[in-house]
Amino acid sequence: MIHLSEPLLDGNELEYISRCVKSGWISSKGRFVTDFERQFSDHLDCHSIAVSSGTAALHLALKSLGIGPGDDVIIPNLTFAAVANAVIHCGALPVLCDVDRTTWNINPELIESLITYRTKAIIAVHSWGHPADMVRINAIANKRNIKVIEDCAEAQGALYEGHMVGKLSDVGCFSFFSNKIMTTGEGGMVTTRDSRIADKVRLLRDHGTRGDYWHEVAGFNYRMTNLQAAVGVAQMERIDKLIQHRIDVGEHYLSRLIHSKLVMPPCCVWAKTVFWLFSVLVESRDEFISALKRKGIETRPFFHPLHKQPPYRLDAVFPVSEELSARGISLPSGNSITKDEVDHVCDAILELV
Ligand SMILES: *Cc1c(COP(=O)(O)O)cnc(C)c1O
Repeated sequence: MIHLSEPLLDGNELEYISRCVKSGWISSKGRFVTDFERQFSDHLDCHSIAVSSGTAALHLALKSLGIGPGDDVIIPNLTFAAVANAVIHCGALPVLCDVDRTTWNINPELIESLITYRTKAIIAVHSWGHPADMVRINAIANKRNIKVIEDCAEAQGALYEGHMVGKLSDVGCFSFFSNKIMTTGEGGMVTTRDSRIADKVRLLRDHGTRGDYWHEVAGFNYRMTNLQAAVGVAQMERIDKLIQHRIDVGEHYLSRLIHSKLVMPPCCVWAKTVFWLFSVLVESRDEFISALKRKGIETRPFFHPLHKQPPYRLDAVFPVSEELSARGISLPSGNSITKDEVDHVCDAILELV
């Protein structure tokens, strides 16, 4: 079986975890948490605050920007539900925006019509490894004093006009779930160039206290453990290789499949995609998935559009989200997949189409 995405844990992960266990520092105090944050800050050149998941990162990003009841937050309609859930758990309303056919990301042309006096923030998700159109999104937001959050969970290392995602707006959010570009098991990171936002995120992450049991605000426990950070430090030691592997896998898929009938993933001239899970659009998606499964190849259909699911249901039409969701599948692209395995998947696909 060729799996969709498997982590690569053959560096210093085990060694660092056993150091945690031997030292007894297994909760959120310990040097791996601060080391991991420092490595991440150096890599991205901005403040980095490690948290317990990508969803926690989104929740804290919104909270640190003051999002609360009565506020609207504009989000893409075709993304992982954590984006909408984080908004809802702030007491705010997620306002769904259709995605764009050329980037598979939130469509900047449609954002403006969704803005009201209640709109406080936009979450730009860099989906399937490809950056959202940040210059246009920032321009719309800056005119009206609306905050912008980047969700980089699927696009760590991707570039927008040569700049790494995660510091192109007010706050960036990363996830280290096992199928992401790098992993800590579960985990996340909040990134920002603004030291006041960084300070608020740190405070909210740890029950609203600075460690002295004096609580300035009602915070959360969204701390990352030293055990998770130990894995993170080992992964960051070779982060450039992990990112490059995704790009190499994606480019190999492209070179093999570009002349097939399948629609290839977005690659805008202003962007450097990392492909995350290399994804294509096919005609009969479900048949395609079962045919590949019979050949021992695991794939995954795209997310359901948010507006069709119970907590976010809307009686509206989102033509691009609906089409991409019906036709999109992700192909095996994990950190440990080999070139031969990618070739095997491509052979199977070319035989099918
Ligand atoms: C994975 C993912 C998240 C959430 O990450 P968790 O670490 O699983 O909480 C958020 N947004 C997007 C777009 C994701 O793909």
